[in-house]
Amino acid sequence: MRFHGVGEAGQKKLLDSRVTLCGCGALGTVLANVLVRAGFGFVRIIDRDFIETHNLQRQVLFDEDDVAAGIPKAEAAARKLRRVNSEITIESIVTDIDHTNILDFVKDVDIVLDGTDNFEVRYLVNDASIKLNKPWVYGGAIGSVGQTMTIIPGQTPCLRCVVETSPPPGMAATCETAGVLSPTINVIASLQATEAIKIMTGHIEAINRELVYVDVWDNEFRRFKISKLKDKVDCPCCKQRNFEWLEGKMGAHTTSLCGRNAVQIAHRTSSQLNFATLAEVLMPAAQGTVNYNKFMLRFTADGHDFTVFPDGRAIIKGTNDIDRAKTLYAKFIGH
Ligand SMILES: [Zn+2]
Repeated sequence: MRFHGVGEAGQKKLLDSRVTLCGCGALGTVLANVLVRAGFGFVRIIDRDFIETHNLQRQVLFDEDDVAAGIPKAEAAARKLRRVNSEITIESIVTDIDHTNILDFVKDVDIVLDGTDNFEVRYLVNDASIKLNKPWVYGGAIGSVGQTMTIIPGQTPCLRCVVETSPPPGMAATCETAGVLSPTINVIASLQATEAIKIMTGHIEAINRELVYVDVWDNEFRRFKISKLKDKVDCPCCKQRNFEWLEGKMGAHTTSLCGRNAVQIAHRTSSQLNFATLAEVLMPAAQGTVNYNKFMLRFTADGHDFTVFPDGRAIIKGTNDIDRAKTLYAKFIGH
């Protein structure tokens, strides 16, 4: 409150603010930490993944106990942060963001923050935010390089004005090829969180209107002038209002997971899986490897590790081949 840009009035505005955080991995944990401690009144944390030991190098809210307990990231983050600030509401949602659910996650909040590692979700967030007129803040980091931009519908270029389509597979560096230096994450997420504080305290005039590029290893700090793109580009999203990602014309339900040698398969089911029954069915094929808690069921078969979630979604480790993963899913889980 003592900071001139916030003050008592600004702090009250933050308490009235509702934010959706898409992704609670590296960027997401830093973002969630700042938002909760800053006193945003409602913080929704969405993540589809669970915690592994190699995440701990950069995902600052998690520890070895969380890995051992097999708790999903969204839930682990919410539990930890409720102990930090009990006066706000923290909602955790363990799901895969796609075109069927993104509008529900965006429509009842004031701002959306990008903590994901993939462009599919970013384009979905971009479509939903432009359609519903909500600001959102893009962030991405790989190796020692990070980027961020702030999107205010109608005022700034949107993500598709700047990057119309996502890079094809194999054309961009991934967590697997480049790794990620944790300070890169902290720099980018801190810039994103500051933008959220500016917007929600009513300081739109202070926001970053360019694409910020940082290389923490090579000491490069650049701002790409993109603000004029808004008038120059005939953007399919913010100009033509053609929401291709939201309409499910772009994107897939099956994704190869960055840096994991794993494929995720999302099968929408209206009912929840019964893990006790599934465990019994799997027993002959998976032998002694099946175990489950209320969040996930894990087993090993055909040399692959499977993690199955209550909504039927599965992560299959040991392959990047989507068709192979579909075959394995059909073989052991069935659909
Ligand atoms: Zn646009």
